[in-house]
Amino acid sequence: MASFEPVIGLEVHVQLKTKSKVFCGCPTDFGAEPNSQICPVCCGYPGVLPVLNRSAVEGLVRTALALDCRVNSRSVFARKQYFYPDLPKNYQISQYELPLAEHGHLDISTEAGPRRVRIHRIHLEEDAGKLLHAIGSRALDYSLVDLNRTGIPLMEIVSEPDMHTAEEAAAYMEGLRAVLRYLGVSDCDMEKGFMRCDANVSLRPAGTTGLGTKAEVKNMNSFRGVRDALAYEIERQTDLLEAGQKIVQETRLWDAQKGSTHSMRSKEEAHDYRYFPEPDLVPIELSESFLDELRRSLPELPSVRRTRLEKERGLSGYDAGVITAEKPLADYFEQALAAFEEPLRREAAKPLANWLTTELLGRLHAAQKGIEESPISSRRLAALVRLVLKGTVSGKTAKTVFDDMFAGGGDPETIVEQKGLTQIEDEVLIGRWADEAIAGQPKSAQDVKAGKAAALGALVGAVLKKSGGRANPQTVQRLLKQKLGAS
Ligand SMILES: [Zn+2]
Repeated sequence: MASFEPVIGLEVHVQLKTKSKVFCGCPTDFGAEPNSQICPVCCGYPGVLPVLNRSAVEGLVRTALALDCRVNSRSVFARKQYFYPDLPKNYQISQYELPLAEHGHLDISTEAGPRRVRIHRIHLEEDAGKLLHAIGSRALDYSLVDLNRTGIPLMEIVSEPDMHTAEEAAAYMEGLRAVLRYLGVSDCDMEKGFMRCDANVSLRPAGTTGLGTKAEVKNMNSFRGVRDALAYEIERQTDLLEAGQKIVQETRLWDAQKGSTHSMRSKEEAHDYRYFPEPDLVPIELSESFLDELRRSLPELPSVRRTRLEKERGLSGYDAGVITAEKPLADYFEQALAAFEEPLRREAAKPLANWLTTELLGRLHAAQKGIEESPISSRRLAALVRLVLKGTVSGKTAKTVFDDMFAGGGDPETIVEQKGLTQIEDEVLIGRWADEAIAGQPKSAQDVKAGKAAALGALVGAVLKKSGGRANPQTVQRLLKQKLGAS
């Protein structure tokens, strides 16, 4: 049986974070009273004129530069015409033939290795309103229209069909979100609709380069939804083709509850939008100095920062990926690391990454807090790691200190001093506990003498217990081996 290769392209709509809408002065606050943020312009009254919001253009162009796109120095708006009750003008101002940016790419990392996804184009458009068919769980026999969202600036980022698995598509979405959040151009919260995604999915015989008949999948409202919906759709199309059936070109809606996609409309009902240039807006013309200014405003981007942390700091790809996924997290890590002087800084990077990604992030996640709300500052986490590296406390004791720091704040040095948690290095004292442990477990002692290295663990454990967990484990091990003549 021939095997098939999935081909996926994504169209992502991102709400640009601006104070006002794209063609009028209405505010863009999320969750406001319905129809409280509207005016004659965004409601499409006759005779009004749109005025372009400069910061929406800046947000889009900064995104385009970060994604290595070619920014067109001249671009035009177009009217995309269709009738729907959430669109008061009966057309949406968008861009068609001359978008703001084209031909970029985003490098993503997947379990199978790095991948490059090409960006086809990025254009600016306005959002439509929202229809309500129910209030809470009560279904209505009429529909309500909320136009607060009408005229919110959106950028549509269209990828080339360069992804071949649901995981790659999810990694692309996550990579895109990371870049957009680093830039500060959008919050990218999918649950709030700040980032939406439609996917074109088709299959072709493995080893060929043509494109099969595609289905468009919509209504994926979370990163998890993207992964699940695409995995489902790939399986659905594979089953059909393997059974000798044909794929129908259609739009399918993802149902997260049922875990399946279902047909919404077929190609025959597809719209002809009758695009034509928007006569009320002049073309956008961007000067070189404007582009240079935005180019200079770009921060170090996540993929660059990730590679730098791997190379400069010796972090694993996984740790570097977790740490650089969010800018505040990467900033926290680098601030903590800056508290160390060389050569200790080199040594501190790896344990610091461990404390951050496993202990601190785990705790913050459980408490539903972000890194900005961490009760442990970067300086204090660095101080804790320093105590471990210098041997002042054992790794085990450090966890107790960490718990105290997370619960009540406070300096690790003060906690260690007040609770008497300093690691015990005294060889006379440790030697005495070692003698007691050997006397208490003659069988284990015999085993170690007979060359069974594994038996040493029980004796080390006994000594650590006698010391209240404070004896330096390396010293304990060394002294026990010495006394038992083991190497
Ligand atoms: Zn308005």
